[in-house]
Amino acid sequence: MAPEDDCVICKRQKADSAQTDGSDLVYANDEFAIRHSRETNIRGYLVIEARRHYLDLTEAGEEEAISYGKVLKSAMQLVRKLTSAERIYTFSLGEAVPHFHVHVIPRTDSLPRFFRGRNIMSYPLQPSLKDEQLAEVCQSLRYLVKTGY
Ligand SMILES: [Zn+2]
Repeated sequence: MAPEDDCVICKRQKADSAQTDGSDLVYANDEFAIRHSRETNIRGYLVIEARRHYLDLTEAGEEEAISYGKVLKSAMQLVRKLTSAERIYTFSLGEAVPHFHVHVIPRTDSLPRFFRGRNIMSYPLQPSLKDEQLAEVCQSLRYLVKTGY
């Protein structure tokens, strides 16, 4: 069995074409997809996922590496436009899912001081946004993408 067959990110990407309403997909090009996270209740928490299955940027091709910088910038601009975040946290761990993906998390004025900086890692995964909240925020983000934010 290829590693891709057992990978949640690969499986989700294969399912994208079948999705219509309720999709968390915000943007995609040939190298990356940007989704809204389904973990935590942080509005504007995005995840950049490589379209191809690889662990990290050391395994990315030249085109993928160049595209990454542009997609990261776009994701951060979307987060700032949507949330007016004072900081935007970005990190990639690759432990739970060994398919390259990057967390892009708004740190707004309303985020409790305890979770700022490295403590963002202890922010609770549950409750997540409700389905209708997720749909609303994804719609806003897709509108920003469409209108060039
Ligand atoms: Zn994968």
